[in-house]
Amino acid sequence: MPKKLFIPGPTEVRKEVLEAMAHPVIGHRSKEFQNLHNEVSGKLQKLMHTKNPVFLSGSSALGVMEACARNTVREGKKVLSLVCGAFSEKWAKIFQSNGKESVSVEVEWGKAIKPEMVKKALEKDSFDAVCLTHNETSSGVTNPLEDIAHVLKDYPDTLFLVDAVSSLAGIPVEVDEWGIDVCLASTQKALATPPGLAIFSVSPKAIKRAAEVRNRGTYFDFLQFLKYWKKGQTISTGPISQIFALDKELDIIFKEGLKERFSRHKKMAEMVKNWAGKNFQDFAEPSFSSLTLTTVKNTKNLDIKKVNEELEKRDKVISGGYGKLKDVTFRISHMGEIYPEDIKELLKDLDEILKLK
Ligand SMILES: *Cc1c(COP(=O)(O)O)cnc(C)c1O
Repeated sequence: MPKKLFIPGPTEVRKEVLEAMAHPVIGHRSKEFQNLHNEVSGKLQKLMHTKNPVFLSGSSALGVMEACARNTVREGKKVLSLVCGAFSEKWAKIFQSNGKESVSVEVEWGKAIKPEMVKKALEKDSFDAVCLTHNETSSGVTNPLEDIAHVLKDYPDTLFLVDAVSSLAGIPVEVDEWGIDVCLASTQKALATPPGLAIFSVSPKAIKRAAEVRNRGTYFDFLQFLKYWKKGQTISTGPISQIFALDKELDIIFKEGLKERFSRHKKMAEMVKNWAGKNFQDFAEPSFSSLTLTTVKNTKNLDIKKVNEELEKRDKVISGGYGKLKDVTFRISHMGEIYPEDIKELLKDLDEILKLK
């Protein structure tokens, strides 16, 4: 029996979406691909509330983060990385490994980045870009994106780069309204599509900046992405089967309705957080706790490997902690194609397993 995935990526994929991948492979320079590309990119623009082009990348999200490092910061300039966990920390590391200077604003893991902190950092120094992880998948914190975006509005020369990997399609993301220059996500989280594909929107401002940056490389050059996007194509052979799958999942998302989808995530989050509060503790700072996953403080010192052995007998799996939170937390994902009935069943199983101890 396949196990139902309550892990924060890759997440459950619907049968129809898996089946969409069985579509005969088509040429990546064919008219048929062009139609598929434009269809999917258009649906993503709708999902992200943007007029900016949305590019399809045959990579995971990390690849697009590398693209940001190569395209958005000029020689001798700096990036501001907002760090509140293991995923946001990747922003700083990826810029540094691409030879760009990164300054971090860091909060204790479990806490959210506050707009005042960003304001203070921007008043002190000048940056070509600011990087934010919308939903920090290690600590289970959702940063106040809209409020931080508001601060950035006073700094028109600073690009705003947002990792929406574990938020997009689970909680609202308004790219144009919030002035996000690059918004990126991979498909295997709240987008509930098999891994191997990442998507990202790029503003005209970010394209203009890229043109001023030397050594953008070949695979992740924003200007090349734009050139091919205009033709309804990808730069090189893309993950065509995954794009068919994403097209299908986007239809499922719009059929459910964005508002309904967001409130379903909220409902599942309430169920899990309620359970976590009764038995353990939510690791995230109150009022910033994520609606797409819950990071639970492991106050009972449970052996999550053993819990999962029991859960696997019931065809389910949850996740341990991530990075330096590995031993002190565990995580229950409630994003994408997981429904309140699934959560109800999971929590019942977990209660049963807790009694076994
Ligand atoms: C999973 C995750 C990533 C990494 O995504 P990949 O597609 O595996 O590269 C980055 N950021 C966040 C917030 C994530 O949850």
